[in-house]
Amino acid sequence: MSDAFFRPVSGFDLPRYAGVPTFMRLPHVDLDNPRIKDVQIGLIGSPWDSGTTNRPGPRHGPRQLRDMSTMIRAQNGATGVRPFELVNCADLGDVAPNPADLQDSMARITAFFDRVGDAGIVPLTAGGDHLNSLPILRALARSTPLGMIHFDSHTDLFHSYFGGTLYTHGTPFRRAVEEGLLDPRRVVQIGIRGTTYDSEDRDFADSVGIRVIPIEEFHARGPQDVMTEAKEIVGNAPTYVSYDIDFVDPAFAPGTGTPEIGGPDSYQAITVARMLGGVNIVGADLVEVSPPFDASGATAYLGVSIMFEMLCNMAVSLQP
Ligand code: MN
Ligand code: MN
Repeated sequence: MSDAFFRPVSGFDLPRYAGVPTFMRLPHVDLDNPRIKDVQIGLIGSPWDSGTTNRPGPRHGPRQLRDMSTMIRAQNGATGVRPFELVNCADLGDVAPNPADLQDSMARITAFFDRVGDAGIVPLTAGGDHLNSLPILRALARSTPLGMIHFDSHTDLFHSYFGGTLYTHGTPFRRAVEEGLLDPRRVVQIGIRGTTYDSEDRDFADSVGIRVIPIEEFHARGPQDVMTEAKEIVGNAPTYVSYDIDFVDPAFAPGTGTPEIGGPDSYQAITVARMLGGVNIVGADLVEVSPPFDASGATAYLGVSIMFEMLCNMAVSLQP
């Protein structure tokens, strides 16, 4: 049972469009706040998109996601889970990146998540572009390589861009495997599709044993069957969940830099997150929401709805 301090502001007490918009209307508890020692799940913004190779904008994601997250209520409509009553959740604020220096930004992100890990907090992060996942994994995988369930149109497993640039949002998981942060035999990538430069990423996946489930297979089998396999692949060991909003069809999630057609609808998008129950989640992220391409805010609303589904499973799994 959570401490009353960590309950969100109810829409019965203050209308949901009013007040300072923290993630899901939770209290803001930064890393220097004495109450940080009581936080179990930390919602964190990482407003950094310097790994973006095409249309930029996810640096603005956390602010819009916070705004749209005020639409989230206390109880999961499908499962009845009330995550904010199960565990102490808080908005830990934003990582402070250096938008003019990619390596410095990654060091800052890792240092922030080192402190989150030292405090025993399970992080749920809103990006930012997908390169954010690499410095986060550097902090979370300090003691053991992690498994990963990865929802995306893209593998993000390419070796390099522009003739040798190693750090872009198309390369984070190649680096994570090379650095021993991920156990590739416990990594599954779901929803892969679209035109590509070549097959170099898929060849790498095959060579190290990463399971790629392309969108054709996802649609043929359905989300339940695919998620059953994904949970078998990661097993009971520590697992990271990385959710690129471009996994979802651009009809439902147009506000992203690298959309690909033929994807899951919004119901399938929350279904796969809801089916993460039982996974030993040590951290999760929702990345690539790009407000400049999200005029209605619908993409950000879908993004925070996915975050809520992940949060519900994380909260249940933290129960004694
Ligand atoms: Mn991605
Ligand atoms: Mn993608």
